Amino acid sequence: MLGGKPLEHPIIISGPCSAETEEQTIETAKGLAANGIKIFRAGIWKPRTKPGGFEGVGEEGLEWLKKVKEQTGMFTSTEVATRAHVEAALAAGVDMLWIGARTSANPFAMQEIADALKDGGADIPVLVKNPVNPDLELWIGALERLYNAGIRQLGAIHRGFSAYGKHLYRNLPQWHIPIELRRRLPSLPIIHDPSHIGGKRELVAPLSQQAIDMGFDGLIIESHCDPDCAWSDKAQQVTPDVLNYILNTLVYRDEKQSTENLKILRQQIDELDNELVEVLNKRMRVAREIGQYKKEHRMPVLQIGRHDEIMQSRASLAEEMGMSSEFMRTVLSVIHEESVRQQIEVFNKR
Ligand code: PEP
Ligand code: MN
Repeated sequence: MLGGKPLEHPIIISGPCSAETEEQTIETAKGLAANGIKIFRAGIWKPRTKPGGFEGVGEEGLEWLKKVKEQTGMFTSTEVATRAHVEAALAAGVDMLWIGARTSANPFAMQEIADALKDGGADIPVLVKNPVNPDLELWIGALERLYNAGIRQLGAIHRGFSAYGKHLYRNLPQWHIPIELRRRLPSLPIIHDPSHIGGKRELVAPLSQQAIDMGFDGLIIESHCDPDCAWSDKAQQVTPDVLNYILNTLVYRDEKQSTENLKILRQQIDELDNELVEVLNKRMRVAREIGQYKKEHRMPVLQIGRHDEIMQSRASLAEEMGMSSEFMRTVLSVIHEESVRQQIEVFNKR
């Protein structure tokens, strides 16, 4: 519910990563409102990984949000991370709040926000972004703290999960985590954030389509009147007109529940298989390093004792998890075969 009315589906929230100036905020909002967007987002307090970056305009920006509301009729939303933010946002009449990924990972901060909302008698929607780390319990815990403080209009935002190293995505989607959240809390709306997952504007459309296909309840997409000059997250922001184009190209499939479920499950299988390949690749890399070590220390490639120990421990672990130990032995022996082959390659290298 927003302004006493149920939200239209899918819920579309858009606006700049950060409110930078009054002009940029109002111009972006007007562009979005002209394209029918009803809920405006803008970060006023920006949690930055390192000091020295643009940390948001602070309370001054709340005045700009008021103007957005007056001049466009849009509902407004911003990110809060402390009691002071909550108090200022409530006092300024912000319609909806969200909790950022760095904050939802911190139970102390979540409790402080929940207490501040309770003390302020807040009855507005609060969306909780997934914590930066892939921890479903932490995400649910953050939601529970708000629920226990009396907040009933709760929603979740899937913004992806941090990962070390270079990846296609800025934050890995790990779709199985929001899907498990849906299974655990079926009535909780889940909104997808393709901007922070993709980190680049080309990925906004395909990720949005994927989220719609998977039955998410809405999208939160960063939009800026001049994305290339944005003070934060410029690579992932789109203009209001591009946003409109993307939203108009999304296909809403009318599939039966059963095929929808099958699709979700297949997507999980695809993702798990990708993870499997990545894990195998990491294992092979370590095997090659072991090969190098053995070579330098004139040790043989194969050490039977170690091999038997691996087989035995993994087979019993698999059995404990309900898989057959025979299956695990078969899988391990082909993995081991490839490890040995890779080590021999290292041995043969001059
Ligand atoms: C944001 O929405 O601009 C933001 C800071 O997002 P996140 O908490 O997902 O990094
Ligand atoms: Mn951002």
